[in-house]
Amino acid sequence: MARTGRTVDDCWPPPEGRRRSDWEALSAEIAACHRCPLARTRTHVVVHRGSLRPTVLFVGEAPGAEEDRTGVPFVGRAGRRLDEAIARLGLGAGEYAVVNTVKCRPPSNRFDRRAADACRPFLARQVAFLDPRVIVPLGAPALAAFRPDLLPVTRAAGRPSRWRDRSLFPLLHPAAGLHSGRFRERWTRDVGSLGRWLASGRRPTVYG
Ligand code: URA
Repeated sequence: MARTGRTVDDCWPPPEGRRRSDWEALSAEIAACHRCPLARTRTHVVVHRGSLRPTVLFVGEAPGAEEDRTGVPFVGRAGRRLDEAIARLGLGAGEYAVVNTVKCRPPSNRFDRRAADACRPFLARQVAFLDPRVIVPLGAPALAAFRPDLLPVTRAAGRPSRWRDRSLFPLLHPAAGLHSGRFRERWTRDVGSLGRWLASGRRPTVYG
């Protein structure tokens, strides 16, 4: 894979162990972060929800208004679509977790590259701790954090790939389907492909 200097690989391997206290220390460090200007406008830092030993890790883009208000990732409209997909995949509470590429809400919900740069080491440490078998980047910025060479996300979504020694299964961002019937159908189809692929237990070798 081509190195771009702008991915989670640049922060790999992170230093932590895997005790719960390490996770709590990491979460506290993220919650206290002032590495970028989003710290001035956020209400809450949005760190994680779900299992600490997930099989599948969903990686979103950045918190929206609801997430900023509550401090929990994917609790707004896009979150409801994600939760429907998780239910369809049959993943139990212990089997998945949700984090974001950027941990603070960008004003006007515009993705902020400087914030992504500042957050990237946190994302790497979260992935290392959670140690998921499958990473599901939701949308282009999340995919770019792992495999920018697979962009555009419309081409990569719905097909298994690899990131380091893990499986990567990109999807479109669930919000994409909120305003476009075409993307809604694509989301439904790709979630179905992910479900079949997870059920088959296959290792993704076909698409590199
Ligand atoms: N969109 C995201 O990418 N993340 C969230 O937490 C909410 C909406």
